[in-house]
Amino acid sequence: MINLYGLEMNKLIKVMEGEGQKLYRATQLYSWIYEKKATSFDEMSDISKSFREVLKEKYCLDLPSIHTKQVSKDGTIKLLVQLIDGYKVECVLMRYSYGCAVCVSSQVGCNMGCSFCSSGILGKQRNLLPEEMMGQVLLINKLLKEENKGQHVTHVVVMGTGEPFDNYDNVLDFIKILNHPKGLAIGARHITISTCGIVENIYKFADEHLQSNLAISLHAPNDELRSKLMKINRAYPLDKVMEAVRYYEKETKRRVTYEYLL
Ligand code: SF4
Repeated sequence: MINLYGLEMNKLIKVMEGEGQKLYRATQLYSWIYEKKATSFDEMSDISKSFREVLKEKYCLDLPSIHTKQVSKDGTIKLLVQLIDGYKVECVLMRYSYGCAVCVSSQVGCNMGCSFCSSGILGKQRNLLPEEMMGQVLLINKLLKEENKGQHVTHVVVMGTGEPFDNYDNVLDFIKILNHPKGLAIGARHITISTCGIVENIYKFADEHLQSNLAISLHAPNDELRSKLMKINRAYPLDKVMEAVRYYEKETKRRVTYEYLL
């Protein structure tokens, strides 16, 4: 079964072409899923019954479920999200004057082993698929809709559990779905990817020219301390990270932000 929430537009077009469908079919499906928020193929009334049967047979619209929900006084919501195979990841809704931001996890566990972070204790169990990252955003959107205050997710930060650039292709597809005008239509400048500094993928991301924000987990002013705190620094020391950052800035004309724990 192919989960339609995991297909960015170009991939969906190809898949629909494989089904002998015309180009508009992909846009029509995005419109049902993201604009009209259909949760079943039966709701898609302008798609022929026979093709809906094909969709039901080979495709799905499965989302992860909410295992635990915690709400703090300021309205911040933390969800423990249960994936289909039983693994659980966290996502967080933060409310700002400028909109609603969701912090999304990109992996179950993490292999980077930063000394200040408990996500790395068990190591990476697996990468999240694009539909599982979309699922976190869509679950938060559903909660916001239930609140009935006319709010929806306007910003996404990939800063939860996992190293996004260690799951590059899936994260990139996720960003494309978020950003597509017929997808969630979240502006690239409202999407931030945080990396501990996987240098080759900073270059690769720069070459996508997506206009998304890049954040670097820095946490130390020199290699000696950074290598103690963050194992990744032994493979990619600061001068290599900064070289890649300068390339990113040159290619995208975007400013890079830094995270630093005190
Ligand atoms: S890369 Fe991020 S999630 Fe992974 S161990 Fe470091 S801080 Fe934690």
